[in-house]
Amino acid sequence: MADLAAQLREDVLERFLRYVRIDTTSDQDSETYPSTAKQRDLGAVLERELREIGLEDVELTEHGYVFATLPGSAGPTVGLVAHMDTSQDESGAGVQPRVVRNWDGSDIVLPGDPDKVLRVDENPILAARVGHDIVTTDGTTLLGADDKAGVAEIMGAVAYLAAHPEIEHAPIRVGFTVDEEVGRGVEHFDIEAFGADFAYTLDGAELGRIDDETFSASEVRIRIEGLSVHPGTSKGKMVNAIKLASRLIGRLPQGSCSPETTDAREGFIHPHRFTGTTAEAELRFIARDFDSAKLAEHEQLLRRLADELAAEEPRARISVTVEEQYRNMKEFLEADPTVAEAADEAARRCGIEPWREPIRGGTDGSLLSARGLLTPNIFTGGQQFHSVLEWASVQDRAAPAATVVELAKLLAEPEWATRSGTRDRTAASPR
Ligand SMILES: [Zn+2]
Repeated sequence: MADLAAQLREDVLERFLRYVRIDTTSDQDSETYPSTAKQRDLGAVLERELREIGLEDVELTEHGYVFATLPGSAGPTVGLVAHMDTSQDESGAGVQPRVVRNWDGSDIVLPGDPDKVLRVDENPILAARVGHDIVTTDGTTLLGADDKAGVAEIMGAVAYLAAHPEIEHAPIRVGFTVDEEVGRGVEHFDIEAFGADFAYTLDGAELGRIDDETFSASEVRIRIEGLSVHPGTSKGKMVNAIKLASRLIGRLPQGSCSPETTDAREGFIHPHRFTGTTAEAELRFIARDFDSAKLAEHEQLLRRLADELAAEEPRARISVTVEEQYRNMKEFLEADPTVAEAADEAARRCGIEPWREPIRGGTDGSLLSARGLLTPNIFTGGQQFHSVLEWASVQDRAAPAATVVELAKLLAEPEWATRSGTRDRTAASPR
């Protein structure tokens, strides 16, 4: 189905170039939801375009989500999810995307900053794309392909299906979210109202990569209350919380179990914030592992270190709190492997060999899957996210859109429609 990708290509590109120009940077420190009001600017554009395409139930919600329905002929209702916000790591204001058509394989100098160069010898994935049309930034901002690529691909796919009513496909629910980059993407996502039997995020990942596994994650906070006394007269009295906290940090595993010493399937404990005075200090850690039992061991280790410290210095008050952040989606997706397999099959029908690699992080899909909406992730074909050196191949970008079209088609085929473990709900709501 290379033709399908070719048919979708210019539409997906045009949408992508339009969406990246709208600043939707989210804000870690904001208390509002969405964290920045400007995310609604893109939401409003998408709302209008979804109506123009002819989708139903189009709405921009009070929380900034955009939802819409494309009715289908048969099969389960499939959710397609992408996030509209971009990372704070680089500026997302005034993005000036540039398309290098039929790229000749030479280094690409970004026009806004001659020091910013996409070098072929440092970039084997780019080097393999001679002849492609390459989208880059001007060198002063991020591109925002994370995740406006996913947004444009979903829009291109539903526009294509809406324009071809003769194509049989499963019903589709579109869901564009906010604040994914600040970890609050699905805080107000109403799964019941969304009404999909299962869903897919289109977010990040190299061509062909289907993600059905993420870290399980928790945050551990250790609070140490010492005793502050005037330093001139504190002999035998002062209990310095900073020193106690440092002692604990010094006892973390050395040379292992940290982000800087692990990869692949290894988990870690990572102190990411240390605040304190003599009187009190707080250490914040994140713990990560693919295996829930091992994650619990990481948490246990921190509790043990805190207990040790409390035993050594009984005058200090030490407390530990553990907060679960997200869970490995595999734990939930195992209940219905068909969901990820359908994505594999759709990719194959587009001539792309699917592959897997566990994500050393979480996705909105991890949270949705834990809450009952199974949501693996489909590649978007982006590269060097969150950076001014971000680039994308227009040809690669069309492939995920084609994969989504094929996915909606195959889920309407009897053998796939009945294989997915959602028959009860599908049967309960005839369409
Ligand atoms: Zn993303």
